Amino acid sequence: MNQTQRVGELVESRRSVETRPNRRKEFRYPTHELVQIELLPGRGDPVPATVIDVAKSGLRLELVRPLPRCSRIEILFSTSELPISGEVRYCHGFDGVYYAGIFIDEVVHSRPLPEHLHDDEIPLYVGGDGLSTVEVLRVEQHLSHCVACHRSIRVAAVTLYPAAGRLALRRNDSL
Ligand SMILES: [Zn+2]
Repeated sequence: MNQTQRVGELVESRRSVETRPNRRKEFRYPTHELVQIELLPGRGDPVPATVIDVAKSGLRLELVRPLPRCSRIEILFSTSELPISGEVRYCHGFDGVYYAGIFIDEVVHSRPLPEHLHDDEIPLYVGGDGLSTVEVLRVEQHLSHCVACHRSIRVAAVTLYPAAGRLALRRNDSL
């Protein structure tokens, strides 16, 4: 998927959350962050994995060995972020390359959350590069209840990526 398509999808997903709540397509943010996965309750050594992308309710992992479906896991970060816990929804792959979909529980943040998204965060979110897994989850969590920041995201998307805005416009009557 190219950048124009990706941002077009973002504009659309942000639009549908307001007008068509049941048909919202989840917007996925690529993070490619290296993490360690611990199977709960504390079974064996953590397994290295890569967070491929993050959406509002979950994330996708790439790892060298499969995770049992429905198992509980904890995702450990190399930064000072607190671990995230979640449940394995699916896992498929072969030959040492496996992909797992994780449904994540509510995220506990290591720092108090600011009242609104930071000005620097908005272009990084729209551009799909530069935020960590936990930062994306924090943005998603905030956007789920803040209309003002929701609007800022859409404005930033069509300002920074006019082609993507037009793409979304073609599929919808107005923005
Ligand atoms: Zn806000």
